[in-house]
Amino acid sequence: MTAGPVMFGRLALVGIGLIGSSIARAAKRDGLVDEIAISTRSQETLDRARELGLGDAYSIDAADVAEGADFVIVCTPLGACGPVAERIAGSLKDGAIVSDVGSCKCSVIEDMAPYVPAHAHLVPAHPIAGTEHSGPDAGFPELFEGRWCVITPPAGTDAAAVEKVAAFWQKLGSMTEVMDAEHHDQVLAITSHLPHLIAYSIVDTATNLEDSLQREVIKFSAGGFRDFTRIAASDPVMWRDVFLKNRDAVLDILSQFSEDLTALRRAIRRGEADTLEDVFTRTRAIRRGVIDEKQA
Ligand code: NAP
Repeated sequence: MTAGPVMFGRLALVGIGLIGSSIARAAKRDGLVDEIAISTRSQETLDRARELGLGDAYSIDAADVAEGADFVIVCTPLGACGPVAERIAGSLKDGAIVSDVGSCKCSVIEDMAPYVPAHAHLVPAHPIAGTEHSGPDAGFPELFEGRWCVITPPAGTDAAAVEKVAAFWQKLGSMTEVMDAEHHDQVLAITSHLPHLIAYSIVDTATNLEDSLQREVIKFSAGGFRDFTRIAASDPVMWRDVFLKNRDAVLDILSQFSEDLTALRRAIRRGEADTLEDVFTRTRAIRRGVIDEKQA
């Protein structure tokens, strides 16, 4: 490891896919921790993580890597967060910080908090950074640079632990914001979960077309469809869990979206040119805002 300001002694990563391996690569590159201990579900992925040299210690058992860890980050799909917390609970040392990277935060608190012992701190976090690729080979150390990481500590969480988690993500290049978990889930339902659902739905519509039409759709995909196929190539298990775990917020925004879509449909049917132009002008302003915030 390169010399640098060491923030934690032992960092345990449970789950070593796109997000976990990107954290490992950045933490190693910048010497943010003394030791990285890695656990994952399958021997195959664990062996690959070892081949890639992502850590210093490896075990198929999450409890082993949590033993003596100062900082544990659970980087599995959301559905595994509770079972992993239950598995590592007995190994956590005094003052250990337990965090995650899940795309929904209420469910993480609900699923993990019951298992985190009083002598450890649960500080959930969500790096809003990713790609449509999965697995330990997909990660890269720059993934989090210039991206937001939202931290959602439950009420009463130790402020120093929250500060340490924020400082870690800042070292990975992220901007951090502390937010209430429920608010996080509402915001992400709009900015991430709904767009993914729409992409999955549009691409699925294309797969249901007759063969000849389907071939034309793929051939001429540059007309917008291509961008949806990239999003719809995202990991099926991860996204299954997002919709199961953020059900209420997604259903709320989906109702609003259905109404807006019906209004657009009506405008097209009635030939209401001004309505269409107004909507498309408003949306352009949003795009400009995203570019100005350097999140394009
Ligand atoms: P990924 O590349 O598919 O990697 C998932 C990792 O979790 C793999 O190491 C996998 O192990 C392990 N895993 C799966 N099920 C497990 C279980 N039941 N117990 C223990 N380990 C298990 O996923 P990712 O993209 O890194 O995403 C991980 C988390 O980050 C998700 O919760 C997601 O919500 C969040 N996130 C993702 C993105 C994104 O764009 N991808 C962005 C922000 C946040 P095996 O390979 O050994 O089965």
